[in-house]
Amino acid sequence: MLAEMGLAPLWRLRASPTPEKRAERQWIEIKQAVPACIACGLHKTRTQTVFGVGDENADWMLIGEAPGAEEDRLGEPFVGQAGKLLDNMLAAIGLERGDNVYIANVLKCRPPGNRNPGPEEVAKCTPFLKQQIALIRPKLIVAMGRFAAQTLLATDASISSLRGRVYKYEGVPLIVTYHPAYLLRNLPDKSKAWADLVFAKKTMQTL
Ligand code: SF4
Repeated sequence: MLAEMGLAPLWRLRASPTPEKRAERQWIEIKQAVPACIACGLHKTRTQTVFGVGDENADWMLIGEAPGAEEDRLGEPFVGQAGKLLDNMLAAIGLERGDNVYIANVLKCRPPGNRNPGPEEVAKCTPFLKQQIALIRPKLIVAMGRFAAQTLLATDASISSLRGRVYKYEGVPLIVTYHPAYLLRNLPDKSKAWADLVFAKKTMQTL
């Protein structure tokens, strides 16, 4: 009778949330899960978790290594001088933080003294990143810095050998470039990062 009237039974309406509602619920769950996470030892030394920030429907996703001291203090990735440089780099290719861009790190908690994250910490934390990628569904990922690139591509190759090509992570095209914090210490490599971003922009136009 209901079908004849073009109506779905009530039980089916309740049982089948729309994809948008499902995604909304998953965002809420992961945003609650990360600050409560104690899956690895980094929870003991963090000030707070650094979840990620930006447009949750972005085409561009930038992924760095792990929060530094300022990020740990403020709860946002890529802040301070490195963050300013990143904003300038984005502006140079017509992008703006938060507008069609999402920024996150492989790890959500700061390793003490900015040491490299350990393999077990990465293994425990990457499910969060994978879920963020699955929800955002970016068209292109830019891995920023040696650690992010090596982790996402499961390689120990150097950044210089990984640049200039398109890889895939979780089915999403991925390009490698330098981390802005590295560029602040190695100014001559800025021109290489610029070339990487131009390459990323050209690649995006083909996706
Ligand atoms: Fe959890 Fe990741 Fe923080 Fe470890 S680094 S405690 S896995 S959120």
